[in-house]
Amino acid sequence: MGAERESQNSNRTRVEVLRLGHRPDRDKRITTHVALVSRAFGASGIHVDTKDIRLEQTIASVNDQFGGDFSINTGISPRSIMNHFRGTIVHLTMYGEKVDRVIEDIPEGEDLLIIIGSEKVPREVFDLAHFNVSVSNQPHSEVSALAIFLDRYFRGAQFEMDFPGGEISILPDGRGKTVKQGNDVTLDPKRNGLMDRRWNEVPDPDECLEILSSAGCSTVVIKHSRVVYDLGMEMVRRSEKVTGTAVKDIDIARLSAGLLLHDLGRSRTHSIRHAVIGAELAVMIGLHPDVVAMIRNHVGGGLPASEAVELGLPEVDLIPLTWEEKLVSHADTLVGNLRRRSLDRALQRLEKEGAEKGMERIIALHAELEDHLSIDLDPLVDG
Ligand code: SAM
Repeated sequence: MGAERESQNSNRTRVEVLRLGHRPDRDKRITTHVALVSRAFGASGIHVDTKDIRLEQTIASVNDQFGGDFSINTGISPRSIMNHFRGTIVHLTMYGEKVDRVIEDIPEGEDLLIIIGSEKVPREVFDLAHFNVSVSNQPHSEVSALAIFLDRYFRGAQFEMDFPGGEISILPDGRGKTVKQGNDVTLDPKRNGLMDRRWNEVPDPDECLEILSSAGCSTVVIKHSRVVYDLGMEMVRRSEKVTGTAVKDIDIARLSAGLLLHDLGRSRTHSIRHAVIGAELAVMIGLHPDVVAMIRNHVGGGLPASEAVELGLPEVDLIPLTWEEKLVSHADTLVGNLRRRSLDRALQRLEKEGAEKGMERIIALHAELEDHLSIDLDPLVDG
């Protein structure tokens, strides 16, 4: 075995954590800490057995702020994860073998699934695991057990990991807090194999999803994109049903690509620059100019050049002009992280973020789309 294992920045192995027995009402804080330790100590993602949208949102916003593409899935079947996992399964339990005795036996170069419990862990987990490992034979906590196991496993290499694309990065400082705003964005389209094949100018939905994952978008971004896609397509379909005719000036194939790819740039940054960066990536991989425009102009119901420049963006209008661009932008506004939200909720959120200028534009866009589609949009997002 080599002196150092590779942490998540290497493509060689993937370490995932499976959290059993999560109770959103009682374990909110501790499971959040389990996820934060997993992320900070080199794992690529976490699966949590009970559905917890708030937990997913918390981790997504940590990624937004501090970078990286740590993934989180909640409400999954632990049995299915364990049965389908191809790699080594380690279960952390005070009853297991001592960590320092077994750590060298865990195969290198294989993916790793680390299971941690909360209360009583079912017997079958002990049987399914390749290794039942203790971090001392005294009871303590899943957070400490996980942190120490990951540290032993990566042998400190996890602290050299990069978290690209965050809004801020912390520069080590022995005397105080040094925070760098922004984070250098690597546009390099060769990263993650985005340039390894030729994409269609207007990719179909399956191809769009391949583009997002080749670009390195996180599972949360991909899920969000699907929700925006479903909503945008439903707006058009509802309009067609009500009016009995196709919606004027909308090319469905292009619209569907724009809805799915609007956050392509989040593979590089979660800051507001993601729209411009995503458009640049889209040009580089040869997407249709109309799809590029949908990606570039989707943020906040549109940004005039004067506001764009204040936000550190190029001094150009980033305003949705075509009906397709308007639909992409507004469907994105009406989806929070992974769920649809009413216009009022979206506006409250903007107000909280201090983006009052965008509120009027969004109200106008809502009315304009209702008029063009001849439908009431509220029932699609309420309740
Ligand atoms: N009696 C439980 C057990 O099986 O370890 C302790 C439950 S503890 C509250 C929750 C989780 O923390 C356990 O399922 C285990 O994953 C982890 N844990 C706690 N103490 C541990 C230890 N000494 N070694 C390894 N894991 C531990």
